[in-house]
Amino acid sequence: MEKSEDCILCRIARGEIKSYKVYEDDFALGILDVNPCAEGHCLVVPKKHMERFYEMDDEDLGRLFSAVKIVANKIKKAISPDFVCIFIRGGRISHLHVAVFPSMKNDSLSGFPQSNFEKVTVDLDEVAERIGNA
Ligand SMILES: [Zn+2]
Repeated sequence: MEKSEDCILCRIARGEIKSYKVYEDDFALGILDVNPCAEGHCLVVPKKHMERFYEMDDEDLGRLFSAVKIVANKIKKAISPDFVCIFIRGGRISHLHVAVFPSMKNDSLSGFPQSNFEKVTVDLDEVAERIGNA
C-alpha cells in the first residue's frame, strides 16, 4: 500500500494539492480529472486511503456509491450527455477512484469493453461454474 502522505489523492483530500471540487461529503470527494477524456470527466474518491472497492465494507461502499450517484446526476444536469459511465480499475494510482464521465452515442466508448479488446473464445459453462463456485 502506498503511504498516504505520498499518495496524490490523499494529499488532495487533505487540501494539500489544488483540486477542482464538484462535490464533497464527510466520506467522499468528487473532483475533475485533470487529464479528462471528456468535458465533465470526474473522479469520486474516498477521503481515506483505500485501494480496492471489493475489499471495502458494505457501509463504506454504499457511501462511496451514493457520492458517485450524486456526481453522475450533476454531470447529467450540467453536460447533458447521452450516458454517464463509471469505471474503476486502479492501475495508475493505488488510491481507489471511480471515474465518472459523460459519454455520447457513437463515441469511443461505444461497444466498450468488447471494442477495446481482441475477441477471446472461452468455455462459458466452465467459466460460469468456476466463478460461481469461487
Ligand atoms: Zn491515498
